[in-house]
Amino acid sequence: MKCIFCQIVSGEMSGDILLRNEHICAFRDIHPAAPKHVLIVPNKHIASTEELSNNDRDVAAELLLAVKEVSKLEGISETGYRIISNCGSHGRQEVKHLHIHVLGGAPMRNGLG
Ligand code: 5GP
Ligand code: ZN
Repeated sequence: MKCIFCQIVSGEMSGDILLRNEHICAFRDIHPAAPKHVLIVPNKHIASTEELSNNDRDVAAELLLAVKEVSKLEGISETGYRIISNCGSHGRQEVKHLHIHVLGGAPMRNGLG
């Protein structure tokens, strides 16, 4: 059984997709934690930042560059946003397919823990 995000990337499961290219896909989080909450994922299944290899340089760069495109599309490039990528149990990663959360549309709470 494919993971949820692989299914969204392949189109087997519906997703509110904002952006897609050869390497990455961006779609809205199903349970938004902020007025604007987008997930950016590699099209290829990579479980987390721990699984990134030196062969994934293009994908890694595309993930970060897509943040800027998403912020423009969501109208939050001026006001700012927070990006988060949870990893493993201490990071409380729920979906084991690498993703960057882009959160904005209102001021974030202070603190990072
Ligand atoms: P994590 O805790 O792994 O960093 O975050 C996983 C995120 O995926 C959560 O914010 C959760 O709301 C989101 N999510 C889980 N299942 C789905 C889904 O089927 N579709 C979408 N769009 N988001 C999902
Ligand atoms: Zn996957």
